[in-house]
Amino acid sequence: MIRIDTLLEKVRRYSPDADLELLRRAYVFSAFAHKGQVRHSGEPYLIHPLEVADCLAGMKLDVVAVAAGLLHDVVEDTLTTPERIHELFGPEIAHVVEGVTKIGAIPFSSSEERQAENFRKMLLAMVDDIRVILVKLADRLHNMRTLHYLDEERRAAIAQETLDIYAPIANRLGMSKLKNELEELSFKFIEPLAYAALRSKVEGRRAFAEGVIEELTTNIRAKLEEAQVPVIRLDGRIKRLYSIHQKLKRQQIDLDRVYDFVALRVTTHSVNDCYAALGVIHQTWSPVPGRIKDFIAMPRPNGYQSLHTSVISEHGLPFEVQIRTDEMHRRAEEGIAAHWKYKEGRVGDQSDERYFQWMRQLLESQEEVRDPGEFLRNLKVDLYPEEVYIFTPKGEVRSLPRGATAVDFAYSVHTDIGHQCVSARINGKMVPLRTRLENGDIVGIITQAGHKPSRDWLTFVATSRARSKIKHVLQGEERARSIELGRRLFEKQARRFGLNPKTVLDSAELVAFAAEYGASNVEELLAHVGYGRLSARTVLQKSFPAGLLKEKPPDSGVVSVVKRVLRTGGAADRIKVRGTDDVMVFRAKCCNPIRGERIVGYVTRGKGVSVHAASCSNVLNLMFDPERRVEVEWDSVGRDAIPYVVRITMQVEDRQGMLAEISARVSDINTNITNMEARSAGDLQARIDMTVEIKDVKHLEKVIKSIKAVDGVLGVERTLRA
Ligand code: MN
Repeated sequence: MIRIDTLLEKVRRYSPDADLELLRRAYVFSAFAHKGQVRHSGEPYLIHPLEVADCLAGMKLDVVAVAAGLLHDVVEDTLTTPERIHELFGPEIAHVVEGVTKIGAIPFSSSEERQAENFRKMLLAMVDDIRVILVKLADRLHNMRTLHYLDEERRAAIAQETLDIYAPIANRLGMSKLKNELEELSFKFIEPLAYAALRSKVEGRRAFAEGVIEELTTNIRAKLEEAQVPVIRLDGRIKRLYSIHQKLKRQQIDLDRVYDFVALRVTTHSVNDCYAALGVIHQTWSPVPGRIKDFIAMPRPNGYQSLHTSVISEHGLPFEVQIRTDEMHRRAEEGIAAHWKYKEGRVGDQSDERYFQWMRQLLESQEEVRDPGEFLRNLKVDLYPEEVYIFTPKGEVRSLPRGATAVDFAYSVHTDIGHQCVSARINGKMVPLRTRLENGDIVGIITQAGHKPSRDWLTFVATSRARSKIKHVLQGEERARSIELGRRLFEKQARRFGLNPKTVLDSAELVAFAAEYGASNVEELLAHVGYGRLSARTVLQKSFPAGLLKEKPPDSGVVSVVKRVLRTGGAADRIKVRGTDDVMVFRAKCCNPIRGERIVGYVTRGKGVSVHAASCSNVLNLMFDPERRVEVEWDSVGRDAIPYVVRITMQVEDRQGMLAEISARVSDINTNITNMEARSAGDLQARIDMTVEIKDVKHLEKVIKSIKAVDGVLGVERTLRA
């Protein structure tokens, strides 16, 4: 239990001139008033005001706030009158205590009217003196920390109220540290089972996550040093459970990737260093498009500043990075409390004005609103600045997260409208479905009966509702296709082993293998084969004794399919899919990866595994479905492998002998040129397209280097699209 002397010492340390005698008197008065009262924990009631005061001292607030913390419950819970507080402790403390008491007077309930009324009161109290809400937040924090002493029903109700009202207010005031703790505790009491499950999952992966963090920070520390970008701190952390929970819910995924719960934070000395660090990070790891956020140039409405980005690690997995100065970090953690500190008297600082302006404007604009429902809705616009508010053509309001598109809106209206939407009309203008909605947009959706959601939509929808509905439809279709493909692959392999496919599919051995593999039935096993996660060959070899399998030469088998596909792709190189040997593999046309390049595999719908270069821009778009990623590697093949056909484009000065010189240089390094064309590009420049046969990525680099060395060559690059 915290003692009054400890508290006084704490205050004295940040505010040497503070009136400690006043605090001691407040303590004695509170002890006297609460005498005989006990908390649900069985402890003396006095512990509560002491803890609240200690929390306020932790924010380094002034004596008025800390004293009000000690006295905050005496008017509500004892016979003490506000006049008595005024008499003994002066007008300021009395005023804050009264404000806190008023907010607490009406218990929150599901009734919209009461909630609206309470919010209004809270806002009035805040505008009046921000210390009222700071004391109230500290009060709520201690109550949340000791919530387990209450019965289950009360716990859930209080936690819900905390999540609905107090956490957003803390957020609006920029106090992320306090907001985070309120959210974590609320989550724990509202969804105890989900909380416990997630907690044990994260704990189980802690050691591994710490290893990942260690690897990432070591890597980036070296890069920052090399680039001479000084940093104050470089820390990796495991995210808060509530934020992981939100993310998993939003993306409808399970926690199987450790990258979903680690994040890096870089703290620098200056704004310039923040941007420099961002540059170094993007040179080290590829950024995920659309995830770079500059909250330094454009601070959040609550004053939050940082650079955010998501990048892809060297293992091909995404994770988040935040970059900020030390000062921004302090403000992000403490928000308005960071400005307030132990300044005696009223708020005067410019930066505080931002918070007050917001509250005053809100109150002024809401004075006329008598409908509590409308008041709450309007309030939410400001309290949750991450949301946008949209109107239907009939004038109904709908809230969507910022970044939501017309498709998200369609799904928010009705599942079928979502499935069948083909285009949208925003403020009377026809727009593509992927258009992001802005506050106040009037959105109409045009549907077409029988239309089905497109996979493409998953790359831009922002709401979990739309995402899960789209995925549900796609997964159903995909699963049917995978089972069908799996069955075909399986039957072929069975025939190659001299078995009757029908008998094998119905066999007890296969059922047993499915169970062992963790599939609920044979059909699911086939789906796994179709997805490319498991090879039909492996299944048969593990299900049946070796003596039973008499392998025939591959005449019409899958292997020849592989070869045929690869040949049309332009190279007969084999690419191996980890854990399988009979899955169709082809090189993606968009990036045409060549031997030696870093590659990733992606299971397509019924067409086998497409292999992309890890740097291919399409890979990023495919990432939304990690389920379908498979690891692939280049098979070790001799030097006589059939070469890749690669097109190279160059920009050159238009002079005589240019073509001859380039072709001579390229031929010099034993490279076969199959085609070469030159076109004048005006301005004494020409463009040359050349098709060459390339062994591997090193060979290609050599060719490009040799062309660059020719005098008058302005630029050379590999042509990706035909
Ligand atoms: Mn209290």
